[in-house]
Amino acid sequence: MDERYSRQILFNGIGEEGQRRLLAARVLIVGCGALGSAHAESLARAGVGHLRIVDRDFVEPSNLQRQTLFTESDAEKRLPKAIAAANHLHEINSEIEVEPHILDVNHSSIEHLTEDCDVVIDGTDNFATRYLINDACVKHNTNWIYGAAVGSYGVTMTIRPHQTACLRCVFEEAPPAASAPTCDTAGVIMPIINIVSAVQVSEAVKLITGHVEALHGSLMQFDVWQNEWRRIGPGAPRADCSTCGLALYETLSQVGEGAAVLCGRDAIQISPAQPTRINFSTLAERLRRAGEVKFNEYLLRFKTGNFELTVFQDARSIIRGTDEIAIARSLYAKYIGT
Ligand SMILES: [Zn+2]
Repeated sequence: MDERYSRQILFNGIGEEGQRRLLAARVLIVGCGALGSAHAESLARAGVGHLRIVDRDFVEPSNLQRQTLFTESDAEKRLPKAIAAANHLHEINSEIEVEPHILDVNHSSIEHLTEDCDVVIDGTDNFATRYLINDACVKHNTNWIYGAAVGSYGVTMTIRPHQTACLRCVFEEAPPAASAPTCDTAGVIMPIINIVSAVQVSEAVKLITGHVEALHGSLMQFDVWQNEWRRIGPGAPRADCSTCGLALYETLSQVGEGAAVLCGRDAIQISPAQPTRINFSTLAERLRRAGEVKFNEYLLRFKTGNFELTVFQDARSIIRGTDEIAIARSLYAKYIGT
C-alpha cells in the first residue's frame, strides 16, 4: 500500500486491513469551525476515502486563532468554510474525495446528509444541531461522536445507537438559552480543541477499523486550565429516552423557526421558509441603491448603516450588527424579501 500511510499501517490497531477500511470509509463532519477543521485535517491525513463536510458559515479573521484549516487569504475572500476546507484538504491529500456543502443543517437536510455515511463526527457549536444529528443517527443506526469545547473545557462521547446511551439519554434537554458559557462569553483556547478532536478522531478510526473494544465508553471531560480529566459512565440506553427508547425523533419533524442566534458573532441567521435560488447580480443591482454590495460565486455581502448582511445562494442570510431576532427579521424582509 501507499508509502503515505506506512507509519499508520505499522500501528497494531490498524494494519493493512484497517487502512483499506479507512480508504473505503465515508465520514460526515457536521460543522467546520475549530473542531471540524481539526477533524477534517486528521481524517484526510489518515486517508479516510470520502469526507462530506457541511458548514453554514464563512471564514472571518477571528476564526484564525483556532480554526487550523483556514488562512488569512480565506478570511479576506470570505470564503465559505466548507469550500475553504475542501481547497486545503485537496492540497493535503489529493487521493481522497471531499464533498463540501454550504448549508444549515436542519430537519429537512440532516437525514440526507447522514445517509450512506459510516460515522458522523460532531464539529457544531450548538445543542439544536446535535439533537438533530442524534435523532437521524439513532433512527438510521449510524455511529456518531459528540464533542464540544468552550473556554479551556471540553467534553466528548461516542454514541452507538441502542448499544450505548444516546445524547438524549444523557442530556434530556438542552441547557436553557443564555445559561451556559459559549465561545462568545467565555472565549476558547486552541489546546482544548486539539484534545477533544484527538479523542473524537481516535474513536472514529476505531469504529471504522472495527475496534469497538478499544472505544473509551464514557462521557469524557477535560479542562486544560484547571488540569481536570474526568470520565463518567453514561450508562445504558434509557427505555424512556424519547430518541433511542421511544423512537419519537422529535427534531426530525420540527420545522425550525428559521432564525438562530450565532455563537460569538453579534449576528443572527435567517433561513427562508422555502429553499430557493438567488441570482446575485440581480440582487446586487437592487441593493446598490441602499448600500455597499460585493459578491463572489458563493455569497453576497451587503453593508447598510451598522448592519452587514451576508446572503448565500439558497437565500439563507447572516445578519451582523444585532443579536435581536426581530431586528434581523425586519432587515431580511426589507432587503432580501421572502
Ligand atoms: Zn437515548
